[in-house]
Amino acid sequence: MSNFLDTPIEYLKGIGPQRGDILKKELQIFTYYDLLSLYPFRYVDRSKFYKIKDINEELPYVQLKGKIIRTELLGEKFAKRFVAYLKDDTGVIELVWFQGAKWLEGKFKPDIEYVVLGKPSEFRGKYNITHPDVDLASDESVKLNAVLQPVYPSTEKLKSKGLDSKGILKLQEVLIPQLQHKIEETLPDSIINQYKFLSKELACKQIHFPENPELLKKAELRLKFEELFYIQLKLLKSKHFRKNSVQSFVFEKLGHYFNSFFNEHLPFELTNAQKRVIKEIRNDVRSGKQMNRLLQGDVGSGKTIVSLMCMLMALDNNFQACLMAPTEILAQQHFITISELIKPLGITCALLTGSVKTKARKEILQNLADGTLQIIIGTHALLEDPVKFKNLGFVVIDEQHRFGVAQRAKLHNKNVNPPHVLVMSATPIPRTLAMTLYGDLDTSVIDELPPGRKPIQTIHYTDAKRLRVYGFMKEQIALGRQIYVVYPLIEESEKLDLKNLMEGYDSLSEQFPLPEYRISILHGRMESDKKDFEMQAFVKGQTHIMVATTVIEVGVNVPNASVMVIENAERFGLSQLHQLRGRVGRGADQSYCMLLTSFKLSQDAKVRMETMCRTNDGFEVAEVDLQLRGPGDIEGTQQSGILNLKIADLAKDQQILQLARQVATEILEADPQLLKTENQILNRQLIRQNKTNINWGKVA
Ligand code: ADP
Ligand code: MG
Repeated sequence: MSNFLDTPIEYLKGIGPQRGDILKKELQIFTYYDLLSLYPFRYVDRSKFYKIKDINEELPYVQLKGKIIRTELLGEKFAKRFVAYLKDDTGVIELVWFQGAKWLEGKFKPDIEYVVLGKPSEFRGKYNITHPDVDLASDESVKLNAVLQPVYPSTEKLKSKGLDSKGILKLQEVLIPQLQHKIEETLPDSIINQYKFLSKELACKQIHFPENPELLKKAELRLKFEELFYIQLKLLKSKHFRKNSVQSFVFEKLGHYFNSFFNEHLPFELTNAQKRVIKEIRNDVRSGKQMNRLLQGDVGSGKTIVSLMCMLMALDNNFQACLMAPTEILAQQHFITISELIKPLGITCALLTGSVKTKARKEILQNLADGTLQIIIGTHALLEDPVKFKNLGFVVIDEQHRFGVAQRAKLHNKNVNPPHVLVMSATPIPRTLAMTLYGDLDTSVIDELPPGRKPIQTIHYTDAKRLRVYGFMKEQIALGRQIYVVYPLIEESEKLDLKNLMEGYDSLSEQFPLPEYRISILHGRMESDKKDFEMQAFVKGQTHIMVATTVIEVGVNVPNASVMVIENAERFGLSQLHQLRGRVGRGADQSYCMLLTSFKLSQDAKVRMETMCRTNDGFEVAEVDLQLRGPGDIEGTQQSGILNLKIADLAKDQQILQLARQVATEILEADPQLLKTENQILNRQLIRQNKTNINWGKVA
């Protein structure tokens, strides 16, 4: 890339050091190139006006024309706001500002037409628009406004420095004319010609200032392709490299541990899918090349035992194995399950989490280092520096999309030879997401549930039917079953959520009084031995109801629990709801999932409830989730960095992704190490992206 694009952002006219700092902090814009790559996330059709009476909350934005009939300053201190009333021939709507009231007062004149642009929302039965864009209708720039006016992402801090969408648009208007012939091509000619893509320069111009919808579409296609293509190229290149050059341990034989477990101690017959996956892994670990495999399977499909049997392969060849879980509770659960399963085999196994005390920790570390310990189960405490293995051969990561690529790499480096790695996803991941998040891994799927499972019945109730739900819970308890009641936990409002939970606990205690009923409670703020105590009481069947936050989301296994009640279900994402539902339906009894919500639901929330009631299939749920939320919002994916996509959208751009992967595959097949002259442009771009990607870490 030419030097000009690397010019520090503060040199652009209209920016300077102060705004430059904010752009860096808020949007990671350091150079001209970064600003050029800040693409509009939407285009507003400024030729179209809405009438006030036609406004509804589902509209992403509306453009209105009318007069300001009155303004006022309301509220005090933090609730202070400036309100202007906009009237057209169909009604009146409130325009609200929480900042800049002083500046706004007296700015609006009566009897003059204004053009207002913003997102409508509803508050106490009335629509309003907060912080809209307001222009004089007579303003030339409004009249001249293109049909496609770009809208840029911004933040509150940026807005306070005049860098709202419009402010950023002004910067682009300064920058882009300076870039004539300074934007280098980033794709090889062969690809551009074959797929008739726009040149990089033209695409960049059109994306910011589209001349017409057709050119905009082409610009989007070109830039989306490029973005996805380079991700795929990078992933496939590293996969290729690993497959051909990274040596790992050969697990030559299946020995005593695997065989005696398989022949004598399996608690049940494996499903065909489980057997197939074990074979796939067996082939990998025999090959001499490092295995990197993603294991997908719905909740309850039996991934744990598969991972255990693979760890036994390592042990049979005198290697250690480790299993890493995203939360302490889950690590503990794995430890209990696995210790039980391997009891007859005389294997040494320990649990290492953040709450293991110094003395015990020392001993564990010692035993790992000298090889006394064969299996270690833990949280990311396992990634910490003093953890040294004697000969780690196999790593299982139970991941819930929580560990990023960087962390996976960290475990690789613990050893001279990298161990084989099996990544298990807690709920299914849609294909496009898997292809991007885990595109460098091979994939195995357990597509079959253990026999005899009755499909869980999912029912959606509004809060008004709460008593009916309680009645049902009592019937189930009378039948000897146990019940989970789960409350949402959203990090920003931890206090509030705890209050919710405690209130819920109190009212449940009234409905289900002692001594007839016993209730356990579990939340993230509890000490770990208290958590343990409550959990065990429920596991042992000493309590009937477990009231909990989402800390029980993953891994908990109590087959006698047959009802999952989810409070404020509208506040959960689909994959989380599905994961929670997967906590029941593990025994022989008919199980139920009850989704309690308020009466009024957003369109998205309705779809989520309907999807949950319609299907038990995690892959289907995951697809709907991706469509609804877009990949950026799916749990944990933010940390992975790889999904900081600037323009492509994995929910919508599946076809472009397929093409990008196909083209990358073809190129690497013909030139695996990218040595050919015509491919040097690819190498340059990969290097450039590696540099910029370092910013991920900072962001996360
Ligand atoms: P997940 O894939 O969600 O991690 P688990 O490994 O926790 O699922 O397994 C869910 C439950 O199913 C466990 O109680 C486990 O013992 C049981 N299970 C696993 N495989 C089988 C099988 N082949 N037949 C019967 N039960 C099984
Ligand atoms: Mg599991």
